[in-house]
Amino acid sequence: MIRILSGASFKAAGGLLKDIQSRQLHGTYDIAVVGAGIVGLATARELILRHPSLSFVLLEKEKELSLHQSGHNSGVIHSGIYYTPGSLKARLCVRGATLAYEYCEKKGLPYKRCGKLIVAVEQEEIPRLKALYERGMKNNVRDLTIVDGKGIRDREPYCRGIMALDSPYTGIVDWRMVALSYGTDFKEAGGTVVTEYEVNDISMIKESPSGSTEGMKYPLAVRDNKGNELRCRYVLTCGGLYSDRLSQISGCSREPRIVPFRGDYLVLKPEKNYLVKGNIYPVPDPRFPFLGVHFTPRMDGSIWLGPNAVLAFKREGYKVYDFSAQDFADALLFRGLQKLIMRNITFGVGEMYRGLFIGAQVKNLQKYIPELSLSDVIRGPTGVRAQALDRDGNLVDDFVFDGGVGDVGSRVLHVRNAPSPAATSSLAIAEMIADEVENRFTL
Ligand SMILES: Cc1cc2nc3c(=O)[nH]c(=O)nc-3n(C[C@H](O)[C@H](O)[C@H](O)COP(=O)(O)OP(=O)(O)OC[C@H]3O[C@@H](n4cnc5c(N)ncnc54)[C@H](O)[C@@H]3O)c2cc1C
Repeated sequence: MIRILSGASFKAAGGLLKDIQSRQLHGTYDIAVVGAGIVGLATARELILRHPSLSFVLLEKEKELSLHQSGHNSGVIHSGIYYTPGSLKARLCVRGATLAYEYCEKKGLPYKRCGKLIVAVEQEEIPRLKALYERGMKNNVRDLTIVDGKGIRDREPYCRGIMALDSPYTGIVDWRMVALSYGTDFKEAGGTVVTEYEVNDISMIKESPSGSTEGMKYPLAVRDNKGNELRCRYVLTCGGLYSDRLSQISGCSREPRIVPFRGDYLVLKPEKNYLVKGNIYPVPDPRFPFLGVHFTPRMDGSIWLGPNAVLAFKREGYKVYDFSAQDFADALLFRGLQKLIMRNITFGVGEMYRGLFIGAQVKNLQKYIPELSLSDVIRGPTGVRAQALDRDGNLVDDFVFDGGVGDVGSRVLHVRNAPSPAATSSLAIAEMIADEVENRFTL
């Protein structure tokens, strides 16, 4: 059964979905957007606001919107410190953070600008911390300063370190709430949202049905796994953990491949929440794209510690024992992953160990907050990151947006790699993709 959401039902449910209609769908649209995570929703919103006379449909395989990465993340509004100057991540994060704050203000969505410290606890981390400061300055990150041990304690009384980067512009928000608000904007502008529509084929229609020219005006068929079909002129895919498979089914390259990395969080017991005021991050290890296990306050007042990074046995698998033979075989047979594992076996085993034995993780976190003890934490939620990987085993660091060739490929644009900070960057990514759609396609 597929579900089509009207503006009224979507709004009444606060963006959470109500069944209002179910039928075989044979609609025609100018643009179909596949995937209703924060990137798909932000982009569908931007496109319909720019082109109100065109028809848009947003297709999502789940019953509800933004259930995956956009609903399972740290909830940080990043300020843009880490990213290579001039990269898409650097540009889109800095602009995206500004747009995100403005959007939340305009819509009355709750957020907190609670700041962030990136803390060096060893002398050997100081050169890397200073290099990060230089990067942040090149990226035009606002209000960034370096503080000493006393400066750290002034901001975070229970945190110990020898030097830190202080980023007061960093904040927190519920990214799923933001994503659902983009969805409401899209609906109110006349867009159609269809859930429980798992796209498994995107191809050209060979002939128009019964001699009608309709099929030629909308030459692409977008089919789901239950025999439903709709037609459109152009397709944009924003499939998160399935972005490589969506690319493959439209005849475009399967690479870079997506490798899923689980990230488990611990949660501080409420009576210990006084230990943490804002975000506290380690100095990241430059060999990995992940920022390291951090302390993060949540909008509900709780404090999360994490996430770690271990290879997941299932895309979108949130439980320790979630396993998909297809996903697992797919990952392990990929030469890029084999090379990555060989190069990082020690780190990988360490992360798995700290994931299984939370005492080891707490010991690691005590470097930042010595007062923390094992009895202060409980196991918390899990997220799964979509990390793109090339065939040489290199993690693809920057955002990747890509089309294809041939009849189908020239009508499709794929968001191939949108890892963190894509939630922060979502409105800026949407602007960039909308520009790209206007350049590539004849709207
Ligand atoms: C643990 C973790 C912590 C993070 N922390 C932060 C943070 O603090 N700040 C930040 O800015 N970013 C953070 N991120 C990154 C951020 O959450 C993601 O980059 C962002 O949510 C990606 O959005 P997306 O729309 O590309 O993907 P998703 O949210 O995964 O959405 C993809 C959607 O596509 C749908 N889909 C897939 N295949 C199909 C199909 N065949 N047919 C129909 N629908 C399909 C899926 O069901 C899903 O709804 C974090 C990510 C993780 C995992």
